[in-house]
Amino acid sequence: MNNKPKFAIEADKLTKSFGSKTVVDEVSFSIKRGEIFGFLGPNGSGKSTVIRMLCGLINPTKGQGFINGINVTENAELIRKSIGYMSQKFGLYPDLTVEQNLNFYGQIYGVPDHKLKDRKAELCGQIGLNPYMQNKADQLSGGWKQRLALACSLLHKPSVLFLDEPTAGIDPVARREVWDLLFDLSTDGMTMLVTTHYMDEAERCNRIGYIYLSKMIAIGSIKELIDSPELRNLNSYQVSIQGEPSMAIYAYLRSLDYLKDITIFGRNLHATLPNNLSIESLKNLIIENTKCENLSIKSSEPSLEDIFVILTKKQKANQ
Ligand code: ADP
Ligand code: MG
Repeated sequence: MNNKPKFAIEADKLTKSFGSKTVVDEVSFSIKRGEIFGFLGPNGSGKSTVIRMLCGLINPTKGQGFINGINVTENAELIRKSIGYMSQKFGLYPDLTVEQNLNFYGQIYGVPDHKLKDRKAELCGQIGLNPYMQNKADQLSGGWKQRLALACSLLHKPSVLFLDEPTAGIDPVARREVWDLLFDLSTDGMTMLVTTHYMDEAERCNRIGYIYLSKMIAIGSIKELIDSPELRNLNSYQVSIQGEPSMAIYAYLRSLDYLKDITIFGRNLHATLPNNLSIESLKNLIIENTKCENLSIKSSEPSLEDIFVILTKKQKANQ
């Protein structure tokens, strides 16, 4: 019989107040083993504070966190053995070499000396750090610094990994390489909670949670979010518009105050139309008012970014 709990990470109404300010307000979610969970939300919405509570670094004011079914607050020392935490400003030592940083973190995480050599070799092979072992951390590019930080947080073979903005400020190729590594780790069964501001990264996650002003306002797979009642019961729908010259169409659409959220996506314009305006009517309006050619308008699924904009506006309106 498998006695392992179904969820690797659970937040049960986690709440944190600093003085009179509540910065995390009854946040609940559960993450299955092996899942990559994307944790999104604007700066200051409470993401890092949730992570710090789940790592046992700070105590919740109310609510509880569980790692592999074990209460974090009651077993903070035990929990630390099974989690890795790559914080937003992971503390690499710039004057130490890659190898010395790994040795240092090996000691911090209590990896016995006789195991550390093999573990370093295994990780550096997987992460590709071998050619850089004798380089000072300071000399590494942003992407390699992040990979070293990742290696440091994995030395003790945690089963759960918290990554707080692991790809902030690194170039797109390095971002993709870091994500390839995360997928490798996830296929090995590791559970991950990752915060990011990048929509393309969020789309790579199995599920997403969106926190806004200290409250979790949406949670689910992208499909579940798109199909959610909040997005289904709108009095509007999304379209994608193509035509030349696109800037003339854009300027015209902006002049119509009943159209919302007009944005440019490459050669396409995205707009939100009220349900009582058909695609055909909009087409006629654009043709009459601009000298455009090759006009095409199609209804489109909202992008993840659209979803967050819609949910954020709804939340604001309800306050
Ligand atoms: P995020 O990671 O989403 O950017 P944080 O969890 O870092 O957000 O912060 C949420 C809010 O809590 C912010 O307003 C921040 O200023 C506040 N905060 C975080 N840590 C502390 C602290 N130790 N004392 C007081 N306020 C804090
Ligand atoms: Mg943060």
